[in-house]
Amino acid sequence: MGRFVDKIILHCSASDLPNQDAALIDQWHRARGFAKIGYHYFITTAGQTQKGRSHDEIGAHCEGENAHSLGICLAGLASFHDAQFDALRVLLTQLKPLYPKATVHPHNEFPSAKRQGKICPVFDVQPYIQLYVQSTLERTKGEKLWNFKTFIGLLSTIFLRFFKRS
Ligand SMILES: [Zn+2]
Repeated sequence: MGRFVDKIILHCSASDLPNQDAALIDQWHRARGFAKIGYHYFITTAGQTQKGRSHDEIGAHCEGENAHSLGICLAGLASFHDAQFDALRVLLTQLKPLYPKATVHPHNEFPSAKRQGKICPVFDVQPYIQLYVQSTLERTKGEKLWNFKTFIGLLSTIFLRFFKRS
């Protein structure tokens, strides 16, 4: 049984240093006294999704929310690349079936971030909040369509059997 997760929290690395990767963030976070990288995923400027902590490990990325959340961090200070947003979309779509009831949030939405004056993750998270909600709708529609097909299939089987008998 995996850890209970009901929030996916989006971050930025708040640095425009080139060639950032999960290993570098791991160094930074260890230097701050963390056991290891605080995020569960890190998305490089090239749009490569790298793993940080495992889903079952409690992260260190949003005070007060870590116990029941996943943290995703995009490399960047003020501007981000399309490849990163593409990678984020793919990642969220992959997480959805694992945590169907989770919700997506910007780090800056939480009281601890506000207290610390953090504006992380800088980019507009609204499209990703919606994407996460929407992927449920699409899957539900898919399931309903499948059920309809099954129903029609069943009907035609009964119909055919009826005709064979008569
Ligand atoms: Zn953050």
